[in-house]
Amino acid sequence: MAAPRPLRVGGLIPFSTVDYPGRLAAVVFCQGCPWRCAYCHNPHLQPVEASAAGQPWPAVLDWLASRRGLLDAVVFSGGEPLLQDGLGDAMREARGLGFAIGLHTSGMRPARFAEILPLADWVGFDVKAPFERYRHVTGANGGAAVRRALVHLLARGTPCEIRCTADESLLSPEDARRMAVQLAGLGVRRLVLQTVRGADGAARPVGEAFIAAAVAEIERIELR
Ligand code: SF4
Repeated sequence: MAAPRPLRVGGLIPFSTVDYPGRLAAVVFCQGCPWRCAYCHNPHLQPVEASAAGQPWPAVLDWLASRRGLLDAVVFSGGEPLLQDGLGDAMREARGLGFAIGLHTSGMRPARFAEILPLADWVGFDVKAPFERYRHVTGANGGAAVRRALVHLLARGTPCEIRCTADESLLSPEDARRMAVQLAGLGVRRLVLQTVRGADGAARPVGEAFIAAAVAEIERIELR
């Protein structure tokens, strides 16, 4: 069988304190995402191929080797990391340098996610909407697949954060309630609601009705 193509990297944050709880991390942005969330902050990562600004994974790995002792963790983010065949090898190689491994994902490929999960020490899992409403937010019917991925995550017990971008131009308080009911039904006890930024870059506060609808169903809601 041919070796998987090396990870296509669309960008890198060399030092982050907010992408892996309690750890100093480098963030590797994986190229490619087929979804089209209106609030996407990284539309340049949506095309499958990296732009000229992208870096080859071997160069990123060399750089990571020079960061040993300075960073705790490497977070694979996106785009959508699960789309790339080279993700597993990249995670193993980063772990081989002694780093903890974080993964940011939307869970759109549940079978790949189940394979990859043993390689992750922590997962930031983005839920977009009630499962039957995914097309409305992402342009694709991904909800059933995401539900399967979330079941894998919760069954394995990998430390994780379940979060949702609370874009009230796309989601209503009733959507928040339904999503919270579905997540609580799967065993989620804590949900982070992330504010969305407007075109001017300013955060749009999450509305009280939206928060109240989620709070009624899930043990712990946090705003970010
Ligand atoms: S899933 Fe993430 S990377 Fe893909 S379009 Fe939505 S916000 Fe952007």
